[in-house]
Amino acid sequence: MSDYDTVSAEVEHEEEIPEDHPRYQDLLTRHRIENGVEKGITHLQGMHAEGRGSAFDYLLGEETIPSADEAERVAAAHLLLADQPVLSINGNVAALVPSEMVDLADATGADLEVNLFNRTPERIEAIASHLREHGAEDVKGLEADARIPRLDHQRAKVDADGIYDADVVVVPLEDGDRAEALEEMGKTEIVIDLNPLSRSPQVADVPIVDNIIRAVPNMTDHARDLADAGEADLETVVEEFDREAALEAAEERIRNGL
Ligand code: ATP
Repeated sequence: MSDYDTVSAEVEHEEEIPEDHPRYQDLLTRHRIENGVEKGITHLQGMHAEGRGSAFDYLLGEETIPSADEAERVAAAHLLLADQPVLSINGNVAALVPSEMVDLADATGADLEVNLFNRTPERIEAIASHLREHGAEDVKGLEADARIPRLDHQRAKVDADGIYDADVVVVPLEDGDRAEALEEMGKTEIVIDLNPLSRSPQVADVPIVDNIIRAVPNMTDHARDLADAGEADLETVVEEFDREAALEAAEERIRNGL
C-alpha cells in the first residue's frame, strides 16, 4: 500500500491533503464540497453534481485544455466590456471557489449574486456570509425582487438590479433549464461546466469546459492581463471566438484523448 492510499476523503483540513498527490485536485474538490454540505452552504444534490464533474475532469486529463484557456480569455474580455456583469454563485461554487470568485469580481467590476436551485433563506444567508468571510463586500441575491420568465417560482428568483438587469452573466455549474431561460432573456451567458454535452454549455455564448477550480483563477489572470486593452481589442478577442469549435475540442479530448 502506498502512502497515498492512506489519504482518505475524510481529512479535517484541506492542508492535510498532500499537494503532490496524483489526485490532489479531486481530493481537494471533494473535501470542499463535503465541508460545504456540513456548513449548510451546499445541498446534498451538489455532491452528485460534483461526482459527475469529477468523472469528466478525469477524462479531460484534469488540466485546462487550450480551447478552455481561450474561452476563459474570451470570458474575461466579455466581462470587461460589459455594462453590468454578474457572477452567479450557487452552493457548489461557494464551497469550491469563494475567494477566487471575489477576486474575479474585483478584477472585472462584476457583482456577485447568490442564485440557488434549492433556495431557502438559511442557505442564501449562509452563502452570503461565507462570501463575506472570503472578502466580498456586497452580495446580491437576498432581495429576490424579480423573476426570470418561464421558470417555476423558486428557481426564477433573482435580484432586479442583479442578474435580471445584467448584460453579461457567468453561471458556473448551472442547471440546464435556467441556463436556457437566461439565454432567452438575451443575456451574454458564460457557462463553466465540465460536461460539454450538458444543456448549459450547449446554450452558452461562451462555454468553458474546465474545472471551476482552475477556470476562475485563470479568468482573473486573463482579466488582469487585458485590463489595459482598448475596447476595440477586447471586441476582437470576443468576435474571434468560435463556441462550436470550443465544444468540439472538449468532446474530442474526452472521447479520444486528443
Ligand atoms: P443539464 O445542464 O443538462 O441540466 P446536469 O443535470 O448534469 O445537466 P446539473 O447537475 O444541474 O447538470 O449541474 C452540474 C453540472 O456541473 C454537471 O454538468 C457537472 O459536469 C458540472 N460540474 C460539477 N462539478 C464541476 C466542477 N468542479 N467544475 C466544473 N463543472 C462541474
